[in-house]
Amino acid sequence: MYIKMRFPNGVSKTLTLSYDDGPDADVRFMSIMSKNGLKGTFNLNSSMFLGDGYSRQRADDMKKLYIDSQNEVACHGVYHPKLEKLPLPTMIHEILNDRENLEKEFDTIVRGMAYPYGSYDANVLQALRLCGICYSRTVCSTGDLRIPDNWLELAPTCHHDDSRLWDITDRFLKAEGDIDPMLFYVWGHTYEFDRHDNWERFEDFAAKIGNRDDVWYATNIQIYDYIEGFKRLSFSADSKIVHNPNSFKVWFSADGKIVDLEPGETKRI
Ligand SMILES: [Zn+2]
Repeated sequence: MYIKMRFPNGVSKTLTLSYDDGPDADVRFMSIMSKNGLKGTFNLNSSMFLGDGYSRQRADDMKKLYIDSQNEVACHGVYHPKLEKLPLPTMIHEILNDRENLEKEFDTIVRGMAYPYGSYDANVLQALRLCGICYSRTVCSTGDLRIPDNWLELAPTCHHDDSRLWDITDRFLKAEGDIDPMLFYVWGHTYEFDRHDNWERFEDFAAKIGNRDDVWYATNIQIYDYIEGFKRLSFSADSKIVHNPNSFKVWFSADGKIVDLEPGETKRI
């Protein structure tokens, strides 16, 4: 039997955004996101966000926007260093304290990260595992829409200024039928839209790809958790009995037919 993961409501495609450093331009960006139903993750340096260089009032205002928009907040190093260049205890501090600071500030659990400058080494990967980080985004665009298998070296599909953006968007939107699940993952910094005076690029992208019922719009951690949940399904050897041990609903296609499983449900398919 051909079993293929499907996202919530049985759709085959998901889109997520990942934007770094917490600049003021995140405000305008989030308003375009919410108009078009998009979701994503904002990677923050807790030192800059919560103190150095910015006022408490600004932090409170930004915090409210990230929370109210139901986007995810993730780590980006306390001080945005190249992590692999640091002494080991300092490197671990940069990860774990950023996590702790953001968790206290946002009153939530933070399990995601984007590498400052996109750089890391084997020690950083090990530190992430020990600090309970589930995924960390690099800056190596793949142009690819496949589901990643190495979440600690999570390579995005493309940067928003990538010349392939519109081609990939068309490929993503046109795909239909019993396809393999697709993840379109776009990253960048929102201040780049001011710098390059090209906000219309994101407005056009969001209008084209947003508010569709064949795409699941989700944060990075929602996609990670959903995919891990799909992997936890128990199938009988002949794939005809399946059990969902998760606390959330899971969808897949079985020989092209959509199956959904309630939390805790066992089903014969
Ligand atoms: Zn950064």
